[in-house]
Amino acid sequence: MLKLTGVTKNYYVGDIIVGALRGIDIEFRKSEFVSILGPSGCGKTTMLNIIGGLDRYTSGDLTVNGVSTREYRDTDWDAYRNRRVGFVFQTYNLILHQTVLANVELAMTLSGVSKAERRKRAAEVLERVGLGDQLEKRPNQLSGGQMQRVAIARALVNNPEILLADEPTGSLDSENSVQIAEILKEIARDRLVILVTHNAELAQQYSTRIVRLMDGRITHDSNPYSADTEAAVRIEKPPKKERKPAMSLATALSLSLNNLMTKKARTFLTSFAGSIGIIGIALILSLSSGMQGYIAGVQRDTMSNYPVLIEQTTMDMSAIIGAAIGARRQRESHDLDKVYSRNVMANMMDSMRQQMSTNDLRAFKQFIEGDESGIAGLANDIKYGYSTPMNVYRADVSDGVFQVHPNSLFGRSASQQGMGAGMSVGMSMRQSGQNSDLWQELLANDELLNLQYDVIAGRMPESFDEIVLFVSRRNEITDFAMFSLGLKDPAELDTMMRDISLGKETGVEQASFDYDEILGLTFKLVPNTDCYQKLGGTWVDRREDAEFMAGVVGGATELKIVGILRPAEGVSVSDTPSGGMAVIGYTAALTEYLIDTVNNSPIVREQRKNPGMDVLTGLPFATPGATSPDLSVLSPEQQAYLALLSPEEREAAMSSYLPVSKATYDENMKILGVTDLESPSSISIYPKDFDSKNSIKAIIDDYNKRMTEDGKAESVIQYTDFIDLMLSSVTTVINAISYILIAFV
Ligand code: ADP
Ligand code: MG
Repeated sequence: MLKLTGVTKNYYVGDIIVGALRGIDIEFRKSEFVSILGPSGCGKTTMLNIIGGLDRYTSGDLTVNGVSTREYRDTDWDAYRNRRVGFVFQTYNLILHQTVLANVELAMTLSGVSKAERRKRAAEVLERVGLGDQLEKRPNQLSGGQMQRVAIARALVNNPEILLADEPTGSLDSENSVQIAEILKEIARDRLVILVTHNAELAQQYSTRIVRLMDGRITHDSNPYSADTEAAVRIEKPPKKERKPAMSLATALSLSLNNLMTKKARTFLTSFAGSIGIIGIALILSLSSGMQGYIAGVQRDTMSNYPVLIEQTTMDMSAIIGAAIGARRQRESHDLDKVYSRNVMANMMDSMRQQMSTNDLRAFKQFIEGDESGIAGLANDIKYGYSTPMNVYRADVSDGVFQVHPNSLFGRSASQQGMGAGMSVGMSMRQSGQNSDLWQELLANDELLNLQYDVIAGRMPESFDEIVLFVSRRNEITDFAMFSLGLKDPAELDTMMRDISLGKETGVEQASFDYDEILGLTFKLVPNTDCYQKLGGTWVDRREDAEFMAGVVGGATELKIVGILRPAEGVSVSDTPSGGMAVIGYTAALTEYLIDTVNNSPIVREQRKNPGMDVLTGLPFATPGATSPDLSVLSPEQQAYLALLSPEEREAAMSSYLPVSKATYDENMKILGVTDLESPSSISIYPKDFDSKNSIKAIIDDYNKRMTEDGKAESVIQYTDFIDLMLSSVTTVINAISYILIAFV
């Protein structure tokens, strides 16, 4: 089945050519136990590695079932190694922190095999090598012989046609060596086993054929073989391309998602279209033009509500949708011979990645603050947003800790009620950011603020730890806000949801609070870095530990509501700032206090002092630039073994040889929330009026032109104008609805 003809292998060391193999001619049977003997350095390992596809021959040919490998590409070699060959080395190369069973399971390359089936197969081969009762042990609890048997089981679990073993008994005593030889003999009953060994006695006793090697040539073969001399053997031609079946998870996910979407969408649309009918379409179309007129009229008055927004990363949504539609049309072509994945999710994510661009906000902030930009003069206010998370908790921890910001309401009830819908609403709210955020930084322009809002109780904030509550013109805040802030008991919401699911009526009562109840209400500000505790040399994230968090919240900085604000009479601002749903306003001073606290926390200072070590794991960071750890410190055998693995397995194996942190210094700083005040994550420019908005946009366009001319294309800024965005999204939505309705009615 395997045939080497005139195989040579040269290694080049500087100018010197080492001829490791100098013309090997040998053919192997489908099933036999071949031992290769020879002095050290004669080329045994080289030959084995070439047979196993770990190394490439210099000249000659290796034929597999009558097919030459000369034209093999890397993917063909990968498939050959993964499907047909199993390897065992002198060192066992086991993953030390995984159980025996897991080590064998990990090596299973067949996908589409369930977890349970994998387990079963792994247990079976371990049984075969006599380790049926050691499944849950870890490698370092085993003897050398036992570890080598795990390695054999690992090599066998994919049921390869060829098993290659390079001095597997090299570091074992004679008793253990005999055991291994017996197992290999048993295995060789139905496949080709090639054993490289120094132990001639063992070879004589157990193998069916002995090949001696000397200086890269075969000097003796005890039982030569040639297919030509055998009765005509049917040559089994392998399929042209052997590939590992593609990962099944993404496919499965995309299939189920797709299924769900089309079914749901169709039922929804048919019932929707049916109930609205032709009159509905007419209505929507007339509304659409009226709506656009309305928005255009309002925007002159509401400049302060709708800033020109520049975010660190921007995504062009319409381009993404366009790409998604395009991707539906052009599908990859393939034969109808197998089951293929349709990459719905992968394509969507890829187009998102392509449409994502980053803005250099550090440079742009400098530009705005420089004299010559002129933007400051055109704006009522410029607000800088930072990526440092602002974690705020309810001050009262007697019922456990309750996070009021970022909003934990939906995540919480979703997990408690198992309500998927609640979860997705919560997520989209969190993600859409700015406009849906209950907590907003106040405009720094006091004059404008006083013009827009009446203080109906208390006063404006005077220090960093003072906040205000916004109410609507009718002195209202939504029940959603009340639940989120813990003004109403969130447990009520759970009861409500349970009642609904049981078909019970829920009592809708209007809650009310005196101004005095609101004034003096306190929350606690918990910097991200306070959630970490140093335990045994590394910093551990304790956020999931309720008791620990109760202590942290108890000792945290208090934020106090000192005023209630209502939109002033006759001023055209929407009910709350940013036209969104904000109910709490805080000062820029609080943002600065928070960033300062995080930046100077013990954990951040420790990380700064040790830039080479991950304080969260105690492991060194990978060397910058290197995508993988330095492999040259590994033994050649370990390197050969790693070459056999899939990328995920390789990572797991490498981390057991050379523990390195998966994170980077910068990632850690980001996780901890460290920010530089000069590097905002968003800039909101609030124009004075309609004309100044256009001037500001012109200045940005001009800035971009200059950057492009100076060859600094990466500094080009993309901004979002909320009015434009609203106009275009209203139009898009209306067009989409009318399109759908027309298609269905
Ligand atoms: P064996 O396994 O029989 O001890 P090898 O196959 O490992 O011998 O090596 C055969 C010859 O090829 C030796 O002279 C060795 O020094 C040389 N050789 C093996 N691998 C390399 C390499 N990666 N680079 C240069 N020379 C090598
Ligand atoms: Mg060797």
